[in-house]
Amino acid sequence: MMRGKRQDFRCSFCGRDKSDALVLVAGLDAHICEVCVEQAQEIVAEELYGGLAPEGDGGEHPTPELTAPGFEFKLPKNIIPNQIKEHLDKYVIGQDAAKKILSVAVYNHYKRLAHPASEDDEVQIEKSNILLVGRTGTGKTLLAKTIAKFLQVPFAIVDATVFTEAGYVGEDVESILSRLLQVCDYNVAAAEHGIVYIDEMDKVARKSDNPSITRDVSGEGVQQAMLKMLEGTDVNVPPQGGRKHPEQKLVKVNTQNILFICGGAFDGIEKIIARRTNTKVIGYGNANKAQIKEEDMLQYITHRDVKRFGMIPELIGRLPIVTYLRPLDLDAMKRILVEPRNSLLRQYQHLFRLEGINLTFTDDAIQYIAETALEYELGARGLRSICEAVMTDAMFDLPGRKEVKHYTIDALYCKSKLEGGMLEVLRAAA
Ligand code: ADP
Repeated sequence: MMRGKRQDFRCSFCGRDKSDALVLVAGLDAHICEVCVEQAQEIVAEELYGGLAPEGDGGEHPTPELTAPGFEFKLPKNIIPNQIKEHLDKYVIGQDAAKKILSVAVYNHYKRLAHPASEDDEVQIEKSNILLVGRTGTGKTLLAKTIAKFLQVPFAIVDATVFTEAGYVGEDVESILSRLLQVCDYNVAAAEHGIVYIDEMDKVARKSDNPSITRDVSGEGVQQAMLKMLEGTDVNVPPQGGRKHPEQKLVKVNTQNILFICGGAFDGIEKIIARRTNTKVIGYGNANKAQIKEEDMLQYITHRDVKRFGMIPELIGRLPIVTYLRPLDLDAMKRILVEPRNSLLRQYQHLFRLEGINLTFTDDAIQYIAETALEYELGARGLRSICEAVMTDAMFDLPGRKEVKHYTIDALYCKSKLEGGMLEVLRAAA
C-alpha cells in the first residue's frame, strides 16, 4: 500500500519522480516540480505582460526594482511606456491620448520609486498624480484599473462625493486609504505602493472660480483636506474607514509613493475651454469664431480650465498631469462589444461554450446593440444592461437542451427581446 502511494509522488505535469525533483509542491490531488513552476510562471508572464521577456534575459532596459519591508514591488521586467500602452489597448478601446499620457506618467512614477533621490540630489523627480477628464462611462476607471492590474499593485476606487470636511456628515478624507489597506489585507508596505482612483473629482469643485463669492464647504473643504495626502505625507488612517473615532486604532500610511489618479466628467468644461481659446462649440454662440465640435474641445484642456471649473490651484498643482477621454461614438461602442480581451460578447460566448453551444452574434446585432445604447444615452455601461436583456431568455432556455449546438443572435432577435418599454426601463435605471 505504502509503496503504491509513494509512486504517486511525481510531478503531475511532467511526470518527474520526487527523487529527481529539487522541490515537489503538493496540491489537493496533484504535485508540481520546480521546473514546471518556472515554466508556468513564464506562461503567466506571457499572458499578463503580453509576451515581455521573462526575468533575467539580459535585455537592454534596466529593471527598475523596488523593495519595501513585507512587500516587493517590481515593475514588470524591461517594461517601457509603449508596452504599457499596448497592454491598455487590449482592454480599453480608443482613448489613445489618455493611454499615452497615462503610460508615460505611470512609468515615470515607478521609475522614480526605483531610483529614490537623496536629500542632496540636485534633481528630484516630482510625483506625477493624474487628472482624467471625460464623460461618465468613457473608460476612466477602466484605464486606472487595467494599469494597476498590469503592475500588480494594490488598487482602490473611491468616490470623492462621500468625503466631507471635518465636522460634517460623511467620511473623513483619510478613509480613501482605508479602501487601499483593505484590498491588500492591511499590508501597509503594499498599500504604500498602490494606485488610488478618486472618482467624481469634479463634484468637489468650488461652485465659483472666485473664492470670495461662494465658499462651498463640502467642496473646497474636501479639496483642502486632500492636498497633503496627494502630495505625500504620513496619514493616520482609520482601518475600517468612515469617520475617525477616538477609540479606533489608526494605521500610519505614507502616501509619498502612492499614485493618485483622479477622474471626473467636469460637465460644461468644454465651454470654459472654448472661451479661453476664443473658439465656439458648434451650435452655441458667436458664428464668427472658429468652430469646434463639443466632443473635440476637450483635447485642448489645460490646468487653467480645471481651475476655472472650481478646483483650487493648490490641488491642481498636485495633479500635474491632465488628460482627457473622448465621448464614445458608434464605432467605439461596437468595438467595445467585441474587441477587449474580456469583452461582453466574448463573455457570453464563453458561457455558452461551457454548455457546448457555439454562440454567434451577427454584424447587424452588434450594430443594433451599439446604436441602441447611443440612442438611449446608456453609454458603455448600458451595453451590458442591453445585452443582459437580450440574452436572458437564451440563457434560461438553452442549458440542458443537448440538441442545440449553434445559436445565432441577430438584430431581429435583439429587437424582439427589447420590446415593450424595456429600453425606457434601462434608461430610467442608468
Ligand atoms: P468612467 O469613465 O465613468 O470611469 P468606466 O471606466 O467605469 O467609466 O466604464 C464603464 C464600463 O464601460 C467599463 O467597465 C467598460 O465595460 C465599458 N467601457 C467604457 N469605456 C470603455 C473603453 N474605452 N473601452 C472598453 N470598455 C469601455
